[in-house]
Amino acid sequence: AFLLRVTGNCLRHELQNGSGSVATLPYDPWTIDETALKMIERLGEGRYGEVNKAFYTDPLSEDAPRLVAVKQLKQIKSDRNIAFIMEEMRSEMEIMKSLQHENIVEIVGVCVDPVPLLIMEFVENGALNSFLRRHQNSVEVPQLLAFAKDVANGMAYLQSKEIVHRDLAARNILVTTDLRVKISDFGLARFLDTGGYYLTQNFKRDVPLAWYAPEVIEFHKYSSKSDCWSFGVLVWEMFSYAAAPYFCDLKVLAERLRQGQRLGQPAACSDEVYANLPCLTIIPSIFPYINCFNPATIRCKEL
Ligand code: ADP
Ligand code: MG
Repeated sequence: AFLLRVTGNCLRHELQNGSGSVATLPYDPWTIDETALKMIERLGEGRYGEVNKAFYTDPLSEDAPRLVAVKQLKQIKSDRNIAFIMEEMRSEMEIMKSLQHENIVEIVGVCVDPVPLLIMEFVENGALNSFLRRHQNSVEVPQLLAFAKDVANGMAYLQSKEIVHRDLAARNILVTTDLRVKISDFGLARFLDTGGYYLTQNFKRDVPLAWYAPEVIEFHKYSSKSDCWSFGVLVWEMFSYAAAPYFCDLKVLAERLRQGQRLGQPAACSDEVYANLPCLTIIPSIFPYINCFNPATIRCKEL
């Protein structure tokens, strides 16, 4: 079955690309055929993607069709953006192929034509921000702490892979039926350069400013530490049941942060939790330490 799939894919590439030796054609074991997908309904949309629920039938398996989430590009307005957004999606696919962790959404496959599609596992309870708004009255602090711990575990794994996420926020965290969470949306994620940083010249498009660390806002310098800052804002979102953090323009925000202004202590966050979760006070730290966090005792070891 595997060979059939390889041969089928190679032939498809050969047909599309004209002549060429099958042996030299790039084979991507992740490629699946669009006809294997049956769209069901819209799940959500974000910065550039539109995500639909679908059934995926693996033609080479006897298994019943599997529920998946299919991400594709939204309508793109200007040509100038197309290349940029396509590159973002391609990078998202490549990074996701390299990840396997219980707190990171699983990639099922990709389609390259007629349009690029990213096929992921379907995560039943959807995005954490809307989940928290829907269940404000029933989600209690131990559950919030368990969510935070899951995210920290996933981020520690990402850090070990030398990848920065750059868009860690409640809208990009997915909730399973058994109330575990998975990090998703790797559209802005990048492999770290040597030195542990990823530097850009400027902000290319709308960026999640309110989640960004001072060194990102001022110098466009991304690292696991700036992800950790975003984690702090995400934990703030959790304890605020997905309220929006501050929104202001870049200059104002940079100045406020320079003056030491930080997000406040959410009502649901007790002094004890606040004092023991340094990320809540938005002090950049590193994920492996947060891993020591134990929701049962509400303590952070060695921080
Ligand atoms: P964008 O890159 O455009 O921000 P996202 O990957 O964040 O797109 O997806 C947008 C929304 O789609 C999410 O906030 C969530 O509501 C929904 N979604 C995305 N992936 C899944 C999934 N695997 N399972 C269920 N819902 C999903
Ligand atoms: Mg998103």
